[in-house]
Amino acid sequence: MLSRTHLRTSLAAVTVTGVLAGLVAATPLAQGAPAPSGVDLRPTAKKPTAIGKGGAVTTVDPEATAAGLKVLKAGGNAVDAAVAAAATLGVTEPYSAGIGGGGYFVYYNAKTGKVRTIDGRETAPRRMPQDAFIDPATGAPYNFTPELVTSGVSVGTPGTLATWDKALGNWGTLSLGEALAPATKVARRGFKVDETFRQQTLDNVQRFMAFKDTKKLFLPKGDAPKVGSIFRNPELADTYDLIAQKGTRAFYRGPLARLMADVVRKPRTTKKTKLPVPKGYLTPRDLRDYKVRSQKATRSTYRGHDVYGMAPSSSGGTTIGEALNILERYDLSAMTVPQALHHYLEASALAFADRGTYVGDPAFVDVPVKRLLDKKFAAERACSLNPDAAAAKPVAAGDVTSYDGVCSPTKEQGVTDPDTENISTTNLTVADKWGNVVEYTLTIEQTGGSGITVPGHGFLLNNELTDFSTVYDAADPNRIQPGKRPRSSMSPTIVLKDGKPFLALGSPGGSTIITTVLQMLVNRIDLGMTIEEAIAAPRASQRNTASVSAEPAFIDAYGVALTALGHTLAPAGDAFTSAAEIGAATAIEFGPNKLLTAVAEPSRRGKGSAAVVDKK
Ligand code: GLU
Repeated sequence: MLSRTHLRTSLAAVTVTGVLAGLVAATPLAQGAPAPSGVDLRPTAKKPTAIGKGGAVTTVDPEATAAGLKVLKAGGNAVDAAVAAAATLGVTEPYSAGIGGGGYFVYYNAKTGKVRTIDGRETAPRRMPQDAFIDPATGAPYNFTPELVTSGVSVGTPGTLATWDKALGNWGTLSLGEALAPATKVARRGFKVDETFRQQTLDNVQRFMAFKDTKKLFLPKGDAPKVGSIFRNPELADTYDLIAQKGTRAFYRGPLARLMADVVRKPRTTKKTKLPVPKGYLTPRDLRDYKVRSQKATRSTYRGHDVYGMAPSSSGGTTIGEALNILERYDLSAMTVPQALHHYLEASALAFADRGTYVGDPAFVDVPVKRLLDKKFAAERACSLNPDAAAAKPVAAGDVTSYDGVCSPTKEQGVTDPDTENISTTNLTVADKWGNVVEYTLTIEQTGGSGITVPGHGFLLNNELTDFSTVYDAADPNRIQPGKRPRSSMSPTIVLKDGKPFLALGSPGGSTIITTVLQMLVNRIDLGMTIEEAIAAPRASQRNTASVSAEPAFIDAYGVALTALGHTLAPAGDAFTSAAEIGAATAIEFGPNKLLTAVAEPSRRGKGSAAVVDKK
């Protein structure tokens, strides 16, 4: 690996490119001004597949992928590149991720052959009461929308910046400031607005209009930035600069920490807004006390592969692992595609039943991770899977306290919380020439998070605490508790074969993240698809609810066959998004002779962007 000095010199080359790109924007541009004519060096072309060697980056966004690739080319490792790409997503995908949010970082270390994780999930403030989601005016729970979604009460203590710092400190070669540099440049010179950015802004107009600072930043002149215009965020660039100079202290302590706490406890709403915007509980002390956790990755096996996933506080690793354990009992490759999909949907419902009953923040509840991932438990759960007919939903949870792999009656259904789904959040995959791999999912929860922009700092705060169950129930592992992490579905996953990386993948999409990763694994491992086909294939998501949420193309292809098996398919989508899509995945497959196939979405969410260091 390169020495730090050498790498810094190489990164100067990165800066030259950045400066060149900046020159294009040197003509003073008003926010939202049309892009300058002539040569524009801002990366905008999206190539969803890249095949080659020497390292790869794949994200939803060409600027973020370019930032990661530059770091790799300058000699940085996968962790350096992942942080640079993530920080850039904070600029270009500000409604999905950024320093106002949290996420989960999964890392395969080529030298040790081990998978390590960082849990950078947002936490509930220490003063958050268990009835925080009950409206004091009525005594009834707040509605999910608009009250909880657009609020201070759903803002958790952000963990993203601490995650970047920890990842770099543990495994990177760059300082935090160096890793932020490419993103800072993009924030200052601006990026070209595409349809997705404009549409996401339009989807949030009412929420964004509710807050003075958000309106000013994201609705300049009262409208969403036009497609093709340049969007700059100099305040975020200054915030990144401040962090580069002073480290994470500049965020977790001092004036910025006080400001974040202030706007959560007393959101700066516009006079005209009719949204209720309940106040939150965040204090400077919550920020000061925030710590990432190094969680042991979940490990399960599937047809000769080792599947490493995110442990609780995410439900990703246990739910995917359990569903795979159930599916492993059937020869999916010998079935027709609808039969195999039937098994996938039913296994997913069973695993979701157990997710609802058993998974929460392990610092507060005892999560039976080992038992949930036990093949014998899966054997018993598989008793509830009828190969010829869909079960009535919701199906009951299994009993992790007593099972022997033999079919027996299941216990009463535990807690099911209505899960929201949307295509907020973002995911990235990076590999370097030394064989290290990063799979990282980060979010501010809803597209646009809480809607609250931190004044003068250019970033949105999350509304991650909406992932807690709304109504307090002492038996619910995901009940609100002060200082607790709400249960997540984020599922950054690294699959090894014979101890070496085979596939790294992840996706946004709320609780559909779990099914998207699961379906891609089934597509790739069982249904004979290439990784490109596996990511492009139409998706459906069964999360132990009466109907299966499915993309229109899935309904067209398999609706008749699956309906005959007893499934009810309903078009995907929710009140928050205009697209009937599930997920926006990225993945890298590791082939023979160090060949990398990096893939992003070929069409969902306006396409993603994959790149390799040395093209094949
Ligand atoms: N809050 C979600 C989770 O942690 C992620 C947000 C999303 O993808 O919609 O599972």
